[in-house]
Amino acid sequence: MVHLLAFRNKEITKDNILKYEFELLKGPTDFEVDFDCDALLDVSEDKRFNGNSLIVHEKHGAFLVEKTTKELVNEFYKRNTVGFALSKVLANFFSLKHYVPFVFMYVVYMPISGGTRKNTDWIGLHLMNSCRQNKKEAYFITTQGFIIKVTFPKGDLDSRVHDACVLCQKCVAIFLPLIVAGGVDVRGCVFTGLVVKFNTCHCPLHVKVNLENDPKIIGLMFINFIIDHLGIESVNPEEEKKHYRRFLSGRL
Ligand SMILES: [Zn+2]
Repeated sequence: MVHLLAFRNKEITKDNILKYEFELLKGPTDFEVDFDCDALLDVSEDKRFNGNSLIVHEKHGAFLVEKTTKELVNEFYKRNTVGFALSKVLANFFSLKHYVPFVFMYVVYMPISGGTRKNTDWIGLHLMNSCRQNKKEAYFITTQGFIIKVTFPKGDLDSRVHDACVLCQKCVAIFLPLIVAGGVDVRGCVFTGLVVKFNTCHCPLHVKVNLENDPKIIGLMFINFIIDHLGIESVNPEEEKKHYRRFLSGRL
């Protein structure tokens, strides 16, 4: 592992990390991806190295791993049980089809290009203080003060961060009242990074954050998502969906 302090005076980029010797870039043994990763950087196309991703980690520093960034993101289910499914339900609610971030309450990983289907770079917005775009490059300053620079091929960085924040806020708006209703005393976290950047925004998407948060409607939202993704192939799919809906709503 290369300690992040090695990047005190230079940007954290794929090239700058890969300047270190292969021996130094080995990760901790049995590393399992967690929410302390600042970034997951895709190097699967770079055949010089024996690895597919570079991890920039708050505690372990920068290192190379065998798994692709897609595999790593898919392994987040080991941390939150539901993995990417929750993000998909939330994205569905806002009809967001591309660049779907991984969202779990205040933990947000934003894809830089593409999304869930292929390998791309992922930035943990909850660990970023600020960001800015310079043409086709995106700069992120981590809460520890390091600068991560990635290629940002297409789009507007601020609006991409905005949409990721919308999903994050919706996630909290859905679950927080349920947790509180269950008698759990919740204290907000001390620092949430960029995920609260647009908390005062009143755009149409943000207005939807506070709509339809009734537990009955949320339940249906999840159930409908599951049913729509079952791939039902029957003569009368709508009838069959009704049956599943009754079954999944768990009424006695
Ligand atoms: Zn907004």
